[in-house]
Amino acid sequence: MPTEILSGLYQLKVPIPDNPLGWVLPYLIPGDDGYTLIDSGWNTPEAFAALEAELQELNVRFDQIKRLFVTHVHPDHYGLAGRIKEVCGARVVIHQRERDFIRSRYWQPEQLLERIASWLTENGVPRDEMTDLQLSSMPMRSYVAAVEPDAVLWGGETLDFGLYKFEVYWTPGHSPGHICFYERTQRIILTGDHVLPTITPNVSLHPQQMGNPLGDYLASLQRLEPLEVDDVLPAHEYAFKDLRGRLREIVEHHERRLEEMLAVIGEGRATAYDVASSIVWTTGTYDSFSPWMRRAAISETLAHLEYLVQEGKLHQVREDGVVRYERIRDGEG
Ligand SMILES: [Zn+2]
Ligand SMILES: [Zn+2]
Repeated sequence: MPTEILSGLYQLKVPIPDNPLGWVLPYLIPGDDGYTLIDSGWNTPEAFAALEAELQELNVRFDQIKRLFVTHVHPDHYGLAGRIKEVCGARVVIHQRERDFIRSRYWQPEQLLERIASWLTENGVPRDEMTDLQLSSMPMRSYVAAVEPDAVLWGGETLDFGLYKFEVYWTPGHSPGHICFYERTQRIILTGDHVLPTITPNVSLHPQQMGNPLGDYLASLQRLEPLEVDDVLPAHEYAFKDLRGRLREIVEHHERRLEEMLAVIGEGRATAYDVASSIVWTTGTYDSFSPWMRRAAISETLAHLEYLVQEGKLHQVREDGVVRYERIRDGEG
């Protein structure tokens, strides 16, 4: 059952089968020339049928959907894009940084797989786990009907839908081209996966997201801090009120995690694999995870370790093709 957020603006609910997230929450925005949908769902028959049923409840036909904006190209947000475009010809719009991932992740992943293998080895993954971890994202490809975007955003645009005007906020961190949509007059923000009420989104360093993703993520949280917001509308879980309070909690979560990782390294040297398999994650221990979750734990660990390198707390030591992290002692470096 769709939830009316503001006059004519609805939150839909599309299930993500066999996944702990449970569902994705697309938003339907009315406009002068038809509807805009923000985010979609996995490309499964159940998800498509659920989306169709939600629209039917509102007496909205697919051919009335003129645009699909995607907060980022993860399968649960972008998966149905190709299908929706096929059904109604909606224009697909994403951030320009996300466009770069479509071909290499969903159509021609061979080179990316090679890069992932050498990156896992470099970060200490033992040989017996290697293939499982390397290939762990491949089953996800079947949940994506990939399509090239018809237009891209850069952040900073104002999208005038008539009744509602949304400002596009580029919020890299969870994904390099993640975007949020802010309605200043109505004081609502669509946060995608950037800010969720209880879950902290995965922030990863991996071959397609180098640099300092955790630094980017924390800066992206800070960008939302000054906004006047009454309702936060995320893409998972549920809507909530206190944006600033949640931003603080997420920052504190990462600060604790950074401390835990420094404690694991202690006075020794450790690979990202060593650290990821030693700390206790909110969702369990490394050994209890699926290969996909283990890889996510390693890339999330790396995002934190790289942040600590940038902060001058750690440095990298490369020996025999393996990268280890070591504390910079006071007065050193
Ligand atoms: Zn995501
Ligand atoms: Zn998501």
